[in-house]
Amino acid sequence: MPELPDVEGFRRVAQRAEGRQVRGVQVRDAQVLRGVGSAEFQEALRRRYFGEPWRCGKWLVIPTAGAPNAEPGAPAVLAHFGMTGSFEWCGHGGEVHRHDRVVFDFAPGELRYHDMRKLTGLHLARQRGEVDELLAELGPDAQRIGAEEFGERLTRTRRGIKAALMDQSVLAGLGNICADELLWRARVHPNRATTELTADDLDQLHREMRAMLRDAVRAGRVPDDASWLTGHRDAPDQRCPRCSTALRRTRVGGRGTLWCPACQSD
Ligand SMILES: [Zn+2]
Repeated sequence: MPELPDVEGFRRVAQRAEGRQVRGVQVRDAQVLRGVGSAEFQEALRRRYFGEPWRCGKWLVIPTAGAPNAEPGAPAVLAHFGMTGSFEWCGHGGEVHRHDRVVFDFAPGELRYHDMRKLTGLHLARQRGEVDELLAELGPDAQRIGAEEFGERLTRTRRGIKAALMDQSVLAGLGNICADELLWRARVHPNRATTELTADDLDQLHREMRAMLRDAVRAGRVPDDASWLTGHRDAPDQRCPRCSTALRRTRVGGRGTLWCPACQSD
């Protein structure tokens, strides 16, 4: 499931269309369009110039402009990648996969929205204010939030730390994989109550989050190297890469959670 580092990777893919004019939009499956029909989506974007894509949490926003050097704004495309979405850049004439749902055509190539399960997809912000409306429920982006606000937002209500980290209205961008990796790095039990965390614990979590996201963004995903917890998620014999203790797998808030009972004691 795409989380902040993956969406940052898709942002870099979408950057290939920056400053380019949309020659046409092919909607191969309108089920990935949210709150907009094919005809309106195609008409709104045809002949527009894609601006610099930016990200908030797991959302990617691509503003457009009417002329090559104009300030980009609306309409804008907002992408949420759900469980299986991605952006891919392809040369012309390449084979179109059956899960390529929307294809944006540019002179140097195609930007394709690919999605197997179609749980979310592409939105159209028709006017400037509509981007803010669509993102209104989100908390600050996990890559940009400062330590003080991070601690303050996480401890507003008493709940398990993993659930709080994954709540997009508290903090935007972390999903199941990032949350497990972060808690393991910071040696915090996934069910520990947020209100029991000390100021030092919260500082440590913030520091580890910054470091983890920096490395994961560079890789375009949470790396599955042997030194990362994520590298052991699918191993037949799951052992902690730090202390070799057998990892535990439990459900927290309905999500499969991997943690080390020795490093992350309650
Ligand atoms: Zn351990």
